[in-house]
Amino acid sequence: MKVLVAVKRVIDYSVKVRVKADQTGVETANVKMSMNPFDEIAVEEAVRLKDGGMVREIVAVSAGPAQVKDTIRTAMAMGANRGIHVPCEGELEPLAVAKLLKALMDKESPDLVIMGKQAIDDDCNQTGQMLGALANRPQGTFASNLTLSDGKVEVAREIDGGLEMVTLDLPAVITTDLRLNEPRYASLPNIMKAKKKLIELITPEDLGVDVTPRLEILNVEEPPVRTGGIIVADVDELLDKLRNEAKVI
Ligand code: AMP
Repeated sequence: MKVLVAVKRVIDYSVKVRVKADQTGVETANVKMSMNPFDEIAVEEAVRLKDGGMVREIVAVSAGPAQVKDTIRTAMAMGANRGIHVPCEGELEPLAVAKLLKALMDKESPDLVIMGKQAIDDDCNQTGQMLGALANRPQGTFASNLTLSDGKVEVAREIDGGLEMVTLDLPAVITTDLRLNEPRYASLPNIMKAKKKLIELITPEDLGVDVTPRLEILNVEEPPVRTGGIIVADVDELLDKLRNEAKVI
């Protein structure tokens, strides 16, 4: 079996994101970037399937500027066999990424695509679902467990009320949730080995995909600063403040 894993380079989760002075977006210059945490979980799951003998090859894909090759290298240091870099400059919307991944599915014929449920920069939570629809393949989103057998994958999905079990025919698209696994740290020898692994360059034109954004960002602002809270003595005081000060009831 072959698994395609989509990995996005995002601002590291520990960084306090700041809006650019010209309010066109957020500051990314000199900011620590890392693999999207949900994509680390996706890579980890693929590597565990490979370690368990269920999967033969893992291909890590990332779309973006030249620096996304570092993210692909990280995936390869964790255990992916090879990488594909789709060079793109500027904003990439989920639909564009889904179209790129669909074209790569046609080219690579993976049995499984594993990706994050959402990227922590745009928080869109759209690409996996769009890919499932474009490729006309079953999707198991918010996966907290995967079991492969006989051309099918059983997925435990995290839903509001608990867990939902679905069985999907392969090839299928899976998006990862937090509880699926705990990703490993790449060891130094594996980081060194990853430097020798192949990253193929495939352009959006090669894939016949137009990645031009369809949305225009007009303005980006910091959220309003929260003012401190107060402690009220009792429910009557709370009701009084809600009625007469906040005027919300
Ligand atoms: P989103 O729909 O933007 O929240 O992203 C969901 C998932 O799509 C991410 O966790 C990645 O697995 C994948 N993805 C989004 N953008 C990219 C990209 N530029 N390159 C590779 N994978 C991506």
